[in-house]
Amino acid sequence: MVNQNNNEFLQAGFEKLFTNHDLTENQIYEKLIHLRKKVDNQDILEKIINSYKVILNGESNHIFRFNEYDKLEFSKLLDDEKKLARYVIYRYKYKTYPQDKIVEDYPPCVQIEPASVCNFRCVMCYQTDKTFSSKKNGFMGFMKFELFKRIIDELEGNVEAITFASRGEPTLNKDLVKFLDYCKDKFVAIKINSNLSNLNEELAEAIFRNNVQTLVISSDAPDKVNYEKIRVKGNFEKLLKNMELLLDIKKKFSNTNTIIRASGVKISENQDFEKMKEVYGKYTDSVAFVNYLPWESSYTNKINNEMNACSDLWKRIFVWYDGVVNPCDYDYKSILSKFNYNQTDIKDIWNSKHYNELRKKHLNKQRSEIYPCKGCTNT
Ligand code: SF4
Repeated sequence: MVNQNNNEFLQAGFEKLFTNHDLTENQIYEKLIHLRKKVDNQDILEKIINSYKVILNGESNHIFRFNEYDKLEFSKLLDDEKKLARYVIYRYKYKTYPQDKIVEDYPPCVQIEPASVCNFRCVMCYQTDKTFSSKKNGFMGFMKFELFKRIIDELEGNVEAITFASRGEPTLNKDLVKFLDYCKDKFVAIKINSNLSNLNEELAEAIFRNNVQTLVISSDAPDKVNYEKIRVKGNFEKLLKNMELLLDIKKKFSNTNTIIRASGVKISENQDFEKMKEVYGKYTDSVAFVNYLPWESSYTNKINNEMNACSDLWKRIFVWYDGVVNPCDYDYKSILSKFNYNQTDIKDIWNSKHYNELRKKHLNKQRSEIYPCKGCTNT
């Protein structure tokens, strides 16, 4: 499906990115003008429009620009202006609030963890840390539908983006189809990160039926040897077989806007991006390498000199399977957490004294006083 005439650009968060949209800056601008009567947040839309005027004038002092991946998402919503209007505002907040240090009642995105358990042991992942992944240490489990439902009920209408991911493989939760069905038409950007090993027809149908915006498939390398070296316990043939299944089911949903992305974490020279495009491009809309953070050693990384504030504190929050709410998954053992969703709502956590103190320390260049932020390079 990936079109050879399309775009490859380095983007924030991506080490390499290939997408198959053909949207121009001019088309974006015209569409934004058209959205004027459709958005609730007129001020933000005008800021984006003004920024695009600057871009189209060839000047570089614009305040906001959709990157190539955003454009792919944008292009999928062209026929649904109501949703596109919501998407544009959400994307602006997600990308500029960390820069402008804006905190509203809710974060732009919430990551929900259906399972902390994983069936793989990828070399760069905290699942290799037995103090975390060994059953006896109490970190492993699956989110119950009742908890999930309460979270979604709070977020509906307040948050536009939900990601099913975090420390484990979301598809191992046997209620995932129920979770997806419960989210139908409630959010503009639902994303699932998966190794795809547990895909079946029922789940594939639920993904397309519920208009999941993006399915990110962890694929890392385009050949059996390198894939299985990185994705330990993964099986390359099974990955390809399940990608084919996904594609077959997708054909049944002719109106689906779901973007499928093959994604890898670039950790070795043996991961050939050109080959990734060749092997996975026929099943997907996008192929990417994302930036690597040393998650497998979060608690032992040396203090670094990073002075910039961490963007996660302004753009998203994580809810683990058991209701623990944490600022990030680099801190996979929740040292930074002070809250559980069973006692406190997302709104109160996001605006809590604890969260504001964390933000203040990051802004005051004191992240070296916070563990494990002091060894983390995320900005
Ligand atoms: S700096 Fe790292 S450890 Fe600290 S909140 Fe950000 S991602 Fe988490």
